Amino acid sequence: GSAQSALNFGAGPAKLPREVLEEVQRDFLSYQDSGMSFIEMSHRGKEYTKVNNDAQSIVRELLNVPANYKILFMQGGGTGAFAAVAMNLMGRTGTADYAVTGTWSSKAAKEAAKYGEVRLVYPQHKKSGSIQDQSTWTLNPNASYVYYCDNETVDGVEFPYIPETNGIPLVSDMSSSIMTKKLDISKFGCIVAGAQKNIGPAGVVVVIIREDLLGNSMKCCPSVFDFTYIAKENSVHNTPATFSVYVMERVLQWIKKNGGLEVMENQAREKCGLLYKTMAESKKFYTCPIDENVRSRMNVPFRIGGGDEKLEELFLQEAEKLRMHQLKGHRSVGGIRASLYNAVTLDDVKLLVKFMIEFQATHGP
Ligand code: PLP
Repeated sequence: GSAQSALNFGAGPAKLPREVLEEVQRDFLSYQDSGMSFIEMSHRGKEYTKVNNDAQSIVRELLNVPANYKILFMQGGGTGAFAAVAMNLMGRTGTADYAVTGTWSSKAAKEAAKYGEVRLVYPQHKKSGSIQDQSTWTLNPNASYVYYCDNETVDGVEFPYIPETNGIPLVSDMSSSIMTKKLDISKFGCIVAGAQKNIGPAGVVVVIIREDLLGNSMKCCPSVFDFTYIAKENSVHNTPATFSVYVMERVLQWIKKNGGLEVMENQAREKCGLLYKTMAESKKFYTCPIDENVRSRMNVPFRIGGGDEKLEELFLQEAEKLRMHQLKGHRSVGGIRASLYNAVTLDDVKLLVKFMIEFQATHGP
């Protein structure tokens, strides 16, 4: 039966829908009565071929991906994608523009600088918890692409808009926001997203790439990172993370069954809204250091008692007793972070809010 599941507010790998895990568990030892586990099956067999095709189709359907885009499944994580983006797309002009808005875009820019000239769209990001308005950006017309991270998982900022780039291909890391809102894919040249937050287990990275951008990879690009090659080989160039792709396909079907991206988007607003409201009403017991217009719907960092580390530690301990897990802030920023991906329910968030209010009543000034 389904043991009462814990509340998991982890930033990734993160909570997945219980129903999907149960379905995968039922199928685990004998996939579709074959007597074999899915993880034992060839990536060139009919079962994986179907999962691979179904997974591409459901990504295309949910995000309304136009026909002139390829959908690829790769390995190497989000970090691998930082290098892959550069090796595949920077060769055209040797330079690319980066918007650095936090930890992950900063890492992406550093990685890309190994392969060409990285230019920042505005002088180095100073104020954490903010995203500079696009009116302050300058773009290099010669850039091979403009790169940004849609949702900064560590810092808790999310772009409230899609940058305009005057025809320069736009590249986005959507690892922590993919499938949480509708998107006009035609505005992008390339989207990369590690699956391990909103859509599946670690091990697979989804790449959505406009076809005319293929064919420009650098000579040094390993074939496992070469979008052109992976596209040509339908993501079975070598052994893919078969189990991860399989579970991801199931999660994407769950999203569809539950109303698709419109419902995910509405729920995301409602869930984060409850937390931000609780903080606003806490008379600064809970504080969120993020500019209001760029607060992430997915990762909500906050401090307690003005950054009282002892109190924060106590909060985490008491949360654990209530089976609320993975609320610790990223090691680089400290404090608390609640991640609210698609599988986190409104009821989960209500329980967290109830706990926050009780904790304040007991430990507040
Ligand atoms: N990009 C974003 C937005 C992330 O949140 C993360 C990881 O948390 C990464 C990239 C790096 O992903 P990985 O750990 O798969 O390399």
